[in-house]
Amino acid sequence: MVSAAVDRRSLISIEGLRKRYGGRGGAPEVEVLRGVSLEIEAGEFVAIVGASGSGKSTLMHILGCLDRPSAGRYLFNGHDVGTLDRDQLAWLRREAFGFVFQGYHLIATESALENVEVPALYAGQHEGQRKARARSLLERLGLGDRIDHRPHQLSGGQQQRVSIARALMNGGRVILADEPTGALDSKSGEDVMTLLRDLAEAGHTVIVITHDRKVAAAARRVVEIRDGQIVADSGSTVSAPVVSVPVRPATRTRGASLPSELRDACRAAWRVLWINRFRTSLTLLGIVIGVASVIVMVAIGLGTRQQVVAQASAFGANLLYMSSVGASSRIPGRSVTLADLQALTEIPQLAHVLPNVTGNKVVRFGEKDLQTYVRGTGAAMPEVQDWPVRLGGFFSAEDDRDLAAVAVLGHKLARDLMPDLPNPVGQHVLIENVPFQVIGVMAEKGSAAGDQSYDDLLLMPFTTAGVKLFGQREPTYTAMTVQSGASVDDAEKAVDAVMFERHGIRDYRIGNAAAAIAAKAKTEDSMTLLLALIAAVSLLVGGIGVMNVMLMTVRERTREIGIRMATGARRRDILRQFLTEAVLVSVVGGSAGVALGLGVGAALMALGVPAIFSLRAIVGAFLCATATGLVFGFMPARQAAGLEPVVALASE
Ligand code: ADP
Ligand code: MG
Repeated sequence: MVSAAVDRRSLISIEGLRKRYGGRGGAPEVEVLRGVSLEIEAGEFVAIVGASGSGKSTLMHILGCLDRPSAGRYLFNGHDVGTLDRDQLAWLRREAFGFVFQGYHLIATESALENVEVPALYAGQHEGQRKARARSLLERLGLGDRIDHRPHQLSGGQQQRVSIARALMNGGRVILADEPTGALDSKSGEDVMTLLRDLAEAGHTVIVITHDRKVAAAARRVVEIRDGQIVADSGSTVSAPVVSVPVRPATRTRGASLPSELRDACRAAWRVLWINRFRTSLTLLGIVIGVASVIVMVAIGLGTRQQVVAQASAFGANLLYMSSVGASSRIPGRSVTLADLQALTEIPQLAHVLPNVTGNKVVRFGEKDLQTYVRGTGAAMPEVQDWPVRLGGFFSAEDDRDLAAVAVLGHKLARDLMPDLPNPVGQHVLIENVPFQVIGVMAEKGSAAGDQSYDDLLLMPFTTAGVKLFGQREPTYTAMTVQSGASVDDAEKAVDAVMFERHGIRDYRIGNAAAAIAAKAKTEDSMTLLLALIAAVSLLVGGIGVMNVMLMTVRERTREIGIRMATGARRRDILRQFLTEAVLVSVVGGSAGVALGLGVGAALMALGVPAIFSLRAIVGAFLCATATGLVFGFMPARQAAGLEPVVALASE
């Protein structure tokens, strides 16, 4: 070849190469390579032969840029390899070298075809092209019918041929074979050597390392190494034609397009997770439970809150209540008087001031006696409490003034007292032997927020109750409605101001329904927050589970990481792969959690538990789970990416 003749520099040129191990951390320093110098031309078929332990593999790792020498110079195609950074070395391995190992070093979880594809994956070749090339290489090596087999389904000879196909995937300009026949029977070994010779004939540079002189005899040049030094060399024999070698590593190397790389990473990640599905699903439990409990707890929290608000506002959100506190000079426990209420009617923010006097009395109808909560109140009560009359009517202000002996029954009281009468209006009931005419029945109100039911009370005019039943004319408590448009707080302040001016001390208590609702809702909120916190903790536990499983994965698959690096994976490729796996675990867990959460929530709803799904909580919990994978997967992924190729390859 003219160009080869013009360019006389060697493909591989090493000078004074040394490699030392140990020396630090207690281990005694050993020098494994002791000044090796060697020139190898493009297209040569070289065997490096030597006894076990003589340093052959060490030399090959350095030649293949899997390891760096302790001293000496290595020029590849005229360029100093010592000046290249890790990514450039990855590029060189990818573009220039193809490795064949004694132990095959195939990725156990991938098929023959996928193993062969790996180098092209990192070179950024398109999927279609990649698959076609891998397939044709396997067919050429007689493995056309083993394409989808996993390594453990192949014989040693077949595995070694898969690894040769992999070495050729990116061109295989320089094939580095370390004891390629070492683990094979003699027939398979011969086949492999024939293959390598054919490749050498086709122009590939082939370097075979072996302890077996018979194997070495197949090569055109034999270099003998003993105790880390070259002791014999049969001399260079350049053959033509030569497969061209790359000239210079690009400083920025182009990888595959991101989507296709991500797809490949996801596919590979999914396979690994599927193979370890029992362990994966145990790990996922934390995340599943975390996400599901966030969703369910927030749903219950929201549901309860809404129920509380709905219940409370059924009694009017614009209501103020006032009751007496402590003893007054006139009636013990009745410091608020009707005169006070008269004064309160002057407050512009108030729409109604409703005095109430209450107590328990026995109500008799026919033979039936019922202990009943009796409430004397104002004629405006139905309006004030937004509580309509269902049958008959309500008493009027005149009834109140005239001490009319009339009563309005609660929905349930009417039913309990007169179960056989569809319409109790017009009947008389006896309370303390005083007959009261029933003039109406209230609509059903439902149970109140507390224990008290509004439906089994008896209502009558305030004055009638005070005079005829309770023997007093001062209110037990007072209900006031705030004018629509006025602020409840302002009204409360105004009432307080008037009362304080009249009494001089605060022997009364003013309550406000809106505030009570808000307080109640707030308790619910803090409850929800607490539950969400518990859920967040279980997410955290789930995250730690992901980290744990990823650390285990990295440890178990260190050799796979080494294989990927040997075939040209950069640090970021490894980082991305393991991060993808971690995120995939979490996304799967998150999805399962969302499904579980929705299922449990729906079941609770079906059982009548108030629950409202919150899209924010669902999306939030899912994103949290995904982020958990990223955060907790990062450390193990970085650990994987930081491994030295030769160290990773050597791991079991
Ligand atoms: P060969 O492949 O010729 O059998 P190696 O290159 O694998 O020999 O090893 C040569 C010597 O270097 C051996 O004595 C081995 O114990 C030593 N060696 C190899 N790797 C390491 C290492 N990482 N740390 C310490 N010693 C090592
Ligand atoms: Mg070896």
